[in-house]
Amino acid sequence: MAFLAALAVLVAGDFGSTFFYHVPQHLWFQLHLRTHHDRRRSYLDHAVLSTDPAVLIDGFLGALPYLAAAALLWRVSWMGALAGLALGQLHVWWRHTGELGWRTPSLVRAALGPLGIVLPEDHDGHHRNPATEFGDIFRFYDAPARALLAALAPTRRRRAAPPGVKA
Ligand SMILES: [Zn+2]
Ligand SMILES: [Zn+2]
Repeated sequence: MAFLAALAVLVAGDFGSTFFYHVPQHLWFQLHLRTHHDRRRSYLDHAVLSTDPAVLIDGFLGALPYLAAAALLWRVSWMGALAGLALGQLHVWWRHTGELGWRTPSLVRAALGPLGIVLPEDHDGHHRNPATEFGDIFRFYDAPARALLAALAPTRRRRAAPPGVKA
C-alpha cells in the first residue's frame, strides 16, 4: 500500500503541477519563465540550488499539487505519502544534473524509459526549448500538455518587449 500511495503522489502531483501550474505559467505568467528559464544563468544554480525568494516561490507553487496529493493520501499510508514526496524531491535534483554532464547509464535508461520517467537528458530539453518536454516526472504528460498549450496559445500573454523596442 505504501508503494501505491507513493506512486499516486507522484502521478497525481505531476498531473496537477503540469496542468495547473507549469502550463499556465508558460502561457500567462512570468515567474516560472524568469526563474526556471533564464538562459543567462546555469539552471542548476538558479532553478534548483538558489535561495532567491522568487525561485523558492516558483518551486513551492510547483510542489503544492504534490503536497496536496500527499495530504489526501496521508490516511491511506503516511509512509507512502512521505516516500512519494521524498522521491519527487530527489527527482528534482536528479533531473537537473544534465547540466553537470550527467549521462544516464544505459541500464537505467532501459529500466526507466518504458515507465515514461523523465531522465535528466529529457528535462534538459525543456530548458533548451521551453516549448517541449513537459511533465516533471512522467513523460506521458508531455503530449497532452503541449496540446493544451497549443489550444490556449491565442490567449497567451504577450511577452514584454526588450528595452528600447516598442511593444
Ligand atoms: Zn528544470
Ligand atoms: Zn518550464
